[in-house]
Amino acid sequence: MDRIIDSKENKEDITRDESVRPLSIDDFIGQSRIKENLKVFIKSAKSRKNAMDHCLLYGPPGLGKTTLANIIAIELGVGFRATSAPMITKTGDLAAILTNLQPNDVLFIDEIHRLSPSIEEVLYSAMEDFKLDLIIGEGPAARSVRIDISPFTLIGATTRTGLLSTPLRERFGIPLAFEFYTEDDLSEIVKRAGHILNISLSDAGAIEIAKRSRGTPRVANRLLKRVRDFAVVDNKSVIDEDEAKTSLQKLSVDEYGLDNLDRRYLRLIIENYSGGPVGIETLSALLSEETDTIEDVIEPYLLQIGFLQRTPRGRIITEKAYKHLGLENLFIKRDE
Ligand code: ADP
Repeated sequence: MDRIIDSKENKEDITRDESVRPLSIDDFIGQSRIKENLKVFIKSAKSRKNAMDHCLLYGPPGLGKTTLANIIAIELGVGFRATSAPMITKTGDLAAILTNLQPNDVLFIDEIHRLSPSIEEVLYSAMEDFKLDLIIGEGPAARSVRIDISPFTLIGATTRTGLLSTPLRERFGIPLAFEFYTEDDLSEIVKRAGHILNISLSDAGAIEIAKRSRGTPRVANRLLKRVRDFAVVDNKSVIDEDEAKTSLQKLSVDEYGLDNLDRRYLRLIIENYSGGPVGIETLSALLSEETDTIEDVIEPYLLQIGFLQRTPRGRIITEKAYKHLGLENLFIKRDE
């Protein structure tokens, strides 16, 4: 099922989002802690004329990891090569990419936790010594060769650091954790995208979209485009608070940015398990969703807004979520 509030990239995002993607660190809204640190590392690498240290970006989908990786390359004034781990199936694929890099280039690997162990192994010496250890040939004739590659900066992106093997994680000198965006930041992102896409919005209209974007710029941009469609059909030249509210209601996105899948998730635990605890595998089977989707896309935001708690025994729904769904009468207080 396609979800309008899905923080994972869909086809329309890939083809249409390019124009709103910020291209400089000052245009990148929010995440101020990350930006302040990065500015220092970028400046230092530039004045030393060296490759910047390897950098790991982690956080839920749609928070701007790919965008920031591209900005780092632009700010460093070096080339940018992007790929994702599932596309690197053989060590030869990785070797081809690495040997084609120019000195100090940025190589971005999305979903880096999905590299196979044999490919990770090759990456270790590339990251540490800028050398590639390859086995050439097969059987008794096989021999290993070591070749030099240009110094480069690896930027890895992942949804959770816990998914990374320890040796790989330890080879990143700069780990940066993305946080969900505040309502103010998102409203600025919506206004900026509106400006680029020629969509007029009132301040209150932008805030209404921001509130329901579950802390995620990708969702904010997508909601903006859908609300614009309603505004066009309703003959409204400006998206104001009212227009944003009614359009988002029609899209079944509520005041917290939850959609039918989130509500199904919450109701399932409330109605079938008295609010939990329930294990992830059970939820995956009952919702027919992959555990990765549940853990990366649905749960982080529910945790963030305090609707969900994760305990060693499983997921538990909080009283706040019961209230939001109008199910207070089903809430049972626990003795903790
Ligand atoms: P991720 O790689 O974390 O999944 P992306 O970098 O692809 O996320 O970002 C998704 C979209 O959100 C981008 O197309 C970009 O337009 C927008 N975006 C992300 N972060 C910001 C930001 N800080 N300011 C403005 N727009 C942003």
